[in-house]
Amino acid sequence: MTLKVGKDRVVKFEYVLALDTGDVVDSSEGREPLAYLHGYGNIIPGLERQMEGMEVGEEKEIVVEPEEAYGPYIEGQVIQVPIQEFPEGLKPEVGMGIMVETADGRQIPYFITQITDDGMVYMDPNHPLAGQRLHFKVKVVEVREATEEEKAHGHVHEGGHHH
Ligand code: ZN
Repeated sequence: MTLKVGKDRVVKFEYVLALDTGDVVDSSEGREPLAYLHGYGNIIPGLERQMEGMEVGEEKEIVVEPEEAYGPYIEGQVIQVPIQEFPEGLKPEVGMGIMVETADGRQIPYFITQITDDGMVYMDPNHPLAGQRLHFKVKVVEVREATEEEKAHGHVHEGGHHH
């Protein structure tokens, strides 16, 4: 009997992630397949929903709209911070995520999108893939029942390490 992808099962899969433009932005190629516990929101909702019922060895192309991925892109939130205002030892780089404290004391991650030659750092609270339709190619390589401990924690315990 082979298990299908479903709730309370640990799924290992290979994937390639591309945008509408065809640009590949992430892939499991050259790495271990990604393992996750299905049904606990450990991967983006649109991917989890459309992988439901897949079998080991099955390949599928899955398109996920922004609403079921990293959300819509919300304009008008980019902030500019002079590079001198960054703490000693923190070298800002494009793509880096930085926790920023808001006026009401919450910590929100901002992503550095641009650093100008005259030292202005542009930071955006939108996820780098916000507003993007995602095109996954996935292949399921393993499905097993989760352990009681994994279900209690809501995530996979793979290869003995714990995060
Ligand atoms: Zn755990």
